[in-house]
Amino acid sequence: MSDLIRRTAAEMADALAKGETTSVELTRAHLDRIAEVDGALHAFLHVDAEGALEAARAADERRATGSPASPLDGVPIAVKDVLTTRGMPTTCGSRILEGWVPPYDATVVRRLREAGLPILGKTNMDEFAMGSSTEHSAYGPTRNPWDLERIPGGSGGGSAAAVAAYEAPIALGTDTGGSIRQPGAVTGTVGMKPTYGGVSRYGLVALANSLDQVGPVTRTVRDAALLHSVIGGHDPKDSTSLAEPVPDVLAAVEQGATGDLSGLRIGVVTELGGYGYQGGVLERFKESVDLLVQAGADVVEVSCPHFVHALATYYLILPAEASSNLARFDAMRYGLRVLPEGVEAPSAEEVMRATREAGFGDEVKRRIILGTYALSSGYYDAYYGQAQKMRTLISRDFENAFAQADVLVSPTAPTTAFPIGEKVDDPLAMYLNDLATIPANLSGVPGISVPSGLAHEDDLPAGFQVLAPPLKDDRCYRVGAALEARLHEKWGGSLLDRAPDVKVVTR
Ligand code: GLN
Repeated sequence: MSDLIRRTAAEMADALAKGETTSVELTRAHLDRIAEVDGALHAFLHVDAEGALEAARAADERRATGSPASPLDGVPIAVKDVLTTRGMPTTCGSRILEGWVPPYDATVVRRLREAGLPILGKTNMDEFAMGSSTEHSAYGPTRNPWDLERIPGGSGGGSAAAVAAYEAPIALGTDTGGSIRQPGAVTGTVGMKPTYGGVSRYGLVALANSLDQVGPVTRTVRDAALLHSVIGGHDPKDSTSLAEPVPDVLAAVEQGATGDLSGLRIGVVTELGGYGYQGGVLERFKESVDLLVQAGADVVEVSCPHFVHALATYYLILPAEASSNLARFDAMRYGLRVLPEGVEAPSAEEVMRATREAGFGDEVKRRIILGTYALSSGYYDAYYGQAQKMRTLISRDFENAFAQADVLVSPTAPTTAFPIGEKVDDPLAMYLNDLATIPANLSGVPGISVPSGLAHEDDLPAGFQVLAPPLKDDRCYRVGAALEARLHEKWGGSLLDRAPDVKVVTR
């Protein structure tokens, strides 16, 4: 593997600025790496070598004339396949969108292009972002670079695996219930879910509009802040986009990297830990809290009593929103169209039924049924209405907790990466992976996951989650950078340095 690709995005940008490398060289090195290992990993659903190299050449021209479009101009990136990309297939991991090439870019994708980042391709995901393992992708699972027999998390396992295996320095993910943070935790990478409305959702194929958020998937906290600065900020095309500017996340990283957190109050959430969490994950969590105390932070324990209902609340609200979003896949507008067998002149409804039967996977159908049921008259108040009330109570828990602490912390995911196949037929066991990440989505608060070390049971990565009040994303970065600095000092490098190199398998 070329040494070039082991650098952080910040280092790559630096090397580009100094003329030590070119974007074409960087982009080629990553395309070579993809060709080398993606046969084993399957992190990508589509690789756009030509488009990426063309963008790289343009970036090199800008650098040559001393007019880079952004600090990351020329640094390549991978994009989760749930974001529309003009001229590049977008499947959302579903058969129903096979062959669909969007006529427009998502706002975040447009911002990447304007900032000069070559797009390497589209990454694998659970179908329509429903899942915690990438096993619900219609195109087959992605594998975890730490152990190819294990899951890389989900739904954004493709982006996390690509970044962990040096196929891309950085990537975009989306997080509706944890799909940026949980894959980050189980692959030893950094994942940030910004404040709801902080990053545009225009062109993000909606799973659940009130929960979805786009965010960075990277190897360091600084790289996440660099990417966040490119994609964040108001978008008139998204009615839920916030008017407020992106907080100065880069300054927060610099501040955190000094390793001094004096005066900062950290709240350990009682309900996000203990029963159901793997021992080794909890150990790494406690150790990280101790390091933050050494950095000068004060630790308090805070209780968020309604968090125990977060999972149930989420699994009513999410299917309700998803079932109405997925109604647009009606065999008429996009992608797949299946004609029912043996019917001579099928009606629109018969075509729709045959297409949805063939085009949607089991998990998608399960959630459509759940959501339609929860929204049906007679049950609406009992389920959807109750869930909305509980959502309010969970937000109040956050408000109370943030009155006592500047940030809240917990393990990101209850366990390390589990073996492929272990939970795929047990939806409830799969849903439990998001125990600690879901409350943030229900309330719109920002959250970051930073690698906290390897669990002793299986030598696999665990994640440390930092949550902050809405629009205080900078606090996630400050604490994340401080923890990362202390841990890197302790490990003598990054956690990924300890990952086994992925076997070379030609595509
Ligand atoms: N695993 C969760 C789910 O299945 C979260 C998905 C997500 O964040 N997109 O809904």
